[in-house]
Amino acid sequence: QKAEWAALKNEKTVSADGKEFMTGANIGTPKDLDGVLANGSEGIGLYRTEFLYMDSQELPTEDDQFEAYKTVLAGMDGKPVTIRTMDIGGDKYLPYMPLPEEENPFMGYRAIRISLDKQDIFRTQLRALLRASVYGNLWIMFPMIATLGEFRQARSIFNEEKEKLIADGVAVADDIKLGIMIEIPAAAMLADKFAQEVDFFSIGTNDLIAYTMAADRGNEHVAYLYQPYNPSIMRLIKNVIDAAHKYNKFVAMCGEMAGDQIAVPILMGLGLDEFSMSATSVLQTRSLMKRLSTAEMAVLAEKALDMETNDEVKALVEAEVYDK
Ligand code: PEP
Ligand code: MG
Repeated sequence: QKAEWAALKNEKTVSADGKEFMTGANIGTPKDLDGVLANGSEGIGLYRTEFLYMDSQELPTEDDQFEAYKTVLAGMDGKPVTIRTMDIGGDKYLPYMPLPEEENPFMGYRAIRISLDKQDIFRTQLRALLRASVYGNLWIMFPMIATLGEFRQARSIFNEEKEKLIADGVAVADDIKLGIMIEIPAAAMLADKFAQEVDFFSIGTNDLIAYTMAADRGNEHVAYLYQPYNPSIMRLIKNVIDAAHKYNKFVAMCGEMAGDQIAVPILMGLGLDEFSMSATSVLQTRSLMKRLSTAEMAVLAEKALDMETNDEVKALVEAEVYDK
C-alpha cells in the first residue's frame, strides 16, 4: 500500500470519473516544507502562523516574518500557499502578550478579534505577507471570522498597508487572494453573503464542530458530543460549498476532517475543491479519491444529509465505500 501511495507523488488528485480536486498540506513552520514536498502536496492549504509568535520571546518583527513567509512561498514554487493570520487565544497563548483572564477563552478574545483590536501587530503581519507575496502564489486567510464587518475591516486594513507599500516603491503581487476560515456557525449560515466578498473559503472543522455541538475539542466529559459526521455538520458544510460555488469561489477545508477517510467520500460528493491535511495523509487520501466516483459520492452525500446521527453516517460510508 505504501508503495502504491508513493507512486502518486507527482500525480494530480482526480476522481475515478475524472473530476479534479486538490490535496494540500497544513504546516506550522517553514521546516515542515520538506514533508510537504516529499508527499507531493498540490499546495499549502493552511500555514498556521501563530507558531512564529509562540516560538519567540517577543513579537516577531516584520523582517522575521517576511523571511519565514518568503521561504514557504518560494519553496512551493508557484503552487498556492494559504497563510493564515495569527490565531492566538483559545488554547494558544503568548508569554510576552498577556491576554485578559477569561472564563471561556474559546468564546473570547482570540484570532481576528485580537488582530482588529491590536492593529499594530496585525499591520506588521500584513506588511510582511505583502512583501513576501512576490515570491510565490499567496492566499491570505483570516481566522475566526463571525461577521461581514470583521472581514471588511480586515480587508480595508490590508488594502491600506498594500497602498502604503506601493507608495514606498515596494513590489507586491497584485493577485493576492483574500479569504476567511469558516469555523463559526454564523459564518457558515451566512456563507452566501460572505461568498460575494471573499476570494475563497477554508472550512475549519476542528472549531466548527466544537461551536456547532457546543462541545470542547479536548473535554473528555463531553467528548461523545464531538461528532464530525453529525448530519448537522454535513449540512453546514453543504451550505458553505453551495454558496461558494454559486459565486464561483473556491472552497477548501483545512480542519482534521479533510483527511478523515470516512468524511472524504462525502466531501467529494458535496463538491469540496481542496482537501488540506497533515502532509503524511496526502498520498493516502489521493489514492482513496482516485478510486471513488464523484457522481456516486454525490448520491452517498445526499443520503448522509438525510440521516439523523453521527453513527448512521459513519456506518453508511463504511458499508458503501469500504465493505464493497
Ligand atoms: C480548525 O479550526 O479546523 C482549524 C483548521 O484551525 P485550528 O485547528 O488551528 O484552530
Ligand atoms: Mg480553528
